[in-house]
This record gives sequence, structure tokens and C-alpha cells, in this order.
Amino acid sequence: MTLQTPVSTGLQQHAEALDAQLAQLDLAGRLALAARLGRAVFTTSLGIEDQVITAAIGTHRLPIAVSTLETGRLFQETLDLIGETEDRYDITIDRFHPEPDDVDAFVATYGLNGFYDSVEARHACCNVRKLKPLARALAGAEIWITGLRRGQSGNRATTPFAEYDAERKLLKVNPLADWDIDTIRAHVAADSIPVNPMHARGYPSIGCEPCTRAIKPGEPERAGRWWWENDEKRECGLHVSETASESAAPAPEPSAHAVASEAILQASAIGG
Ligand code: SF4
Repeated sequence: MTLQTPVSTGLQQHAEALDAQLAQLDLAGRLALAARLGRAVFTTSLGIEDQVITAAIGTHRLPIAVSTLETGRLFQETLDLIGETEDRYDITIDRFHPEPDDVDAFVATYGLNGFYDSVEARHACCNVRKLKPLARALAGAEIWITGLRRGQSGNRATTPFAEYDAERKLLKVNPLADWDIDTIRAHVAADSIPVNPMHARGYPSIGCEPCTRAIKPGEPERAGRWWWENDEKRECGLHVSETASESAAPAPEPSAHAVASEAILQASAIGG
């Protein structure tokens, strides 16, 4: 049974209202509205859709922090793109790294590439290299902006524009939820947005080097991620479902969410 507090229930309701409002706006409008709701953080993997969001933030000088999880296992092309993007849009992309002691403990237990051996080990590695740094990237944030799209995988087919993330106790905004990959590519070409050259080599979704391969024609966009696992819903845990996370989530701090809730009401009244 899911435990719901009045505050979490209120934020869920506001997320639904915000979702409907965001649906009426273009990308810049969606981001601007999200930025008015409270401290907003965008976490980028430097993937093609994330580059579209970063370009909009930089071009419109929106007050949204841009962060990335530098796991220590990224492709060199991804690392190069961080600096290129900063230069292009005159922004800073904050890097969040895993704690060395956490990495050492993982390696001692499972081996450096132990994530191939079991789902448990893979989740342990993602926890050390992604989830814990993500928690630091989102510390103090009220709004988490992501590049999730419905077309990325069956697991993401119902991605809303706004949802309440009960585990992290914040509002998650997915401004590209309804953009398909062809629209993304056309936008990138029209605005000459820098993207990872690996996309052109069969990598539509790019994560850590040892856990990403090129896909074959006709495969889903994320088929090259953790390809050795059979679970069709494989994810790294960054984007847990609301239903799955709520039951394990402690009650949120009422004061912070009361502020966020009021901000949403005000922003909704403002429109945009
Ligand atoms: S994607 Fe692979 S290398 Fe990266 S954190 Fe997860 S298991 Fe580790």
C-alpha cells in the first residue's frame, strides 16, 4: 500500500495541473515556466535531446543550473562535448563525480567491470557512479529538468511533462516528452547545435563506454544500453517510476514543499 502525505498528494495534483499547462507551450516556454517554480537543475548526459535543452537554456539565458554526472567511464567524445557545449553557449556545466572511496569499495567487491556479472553488481556500480552523484547534483533543487522522451523506449512511452518524484521529493519536468527523434534531429540541424559524433555511428543513446553499444537498424533507441541484460525495462535507476518509489520514500519536509507548492500555484496563475 502506498503511503501518501497531504503534501505529496498536493504536489502530485500540482504536477498534473502543470503537466497540462506545459503541454500548451513550446520548449523555451516550458523551460521558462519550470525556472519560475523554484531552484531548477537540468541534468544532462550530453545526448542529442539533452543538447537541445542545453541550447535553449543557454540561448535564452534561463536561470537553470546545468549539471552532468561524470562517471569516470564516459566516452572521450562525451567528455569533449562538455567543453564544446560550454564554449558554444557561454555556460558552465557542473560536473559531479563519484566518491573515490565508493569506487574503491565497488571494485574491491565486484571488480572494475563486475557490472557484467549480475544485475545486482550493475546496479551497485550505477549507484556509486550515477545515483550518489545525482543526489549531490539535485541537493537543494525544487525542479528537476530532464531530457526524457516517450519515444526513447517502451519503458518511457507514458512520460508526462511534469510529475512528482516521490523518492527525491521534487517536481520533475520533461520538456521534450512529446518530441520524436526526427523532430530532435531537425532542430539540431536547423540551429547547428553541437552533438556527440557517435550518434552518426549508430549510437542514439550514449552512456558509459563499457555499457553502451551501437544499435542495429530497427532496434529501440536504448537497445544498446546494458545490452547483455534481458529485462526490457532496464534502466540505471536515475528515473525510477513514481509508483515504485513512493512506498519507499520517507515523508517530505513540509516547509520546502509548501514553498514549492505555492510557487507552482503562482506560476500557474502567471501562465507563460
Ligand atoms: S552504466 Fe555501466 S559503468 Fe556506468 S555506472 Fe552503470 S554499470 Fe557502471
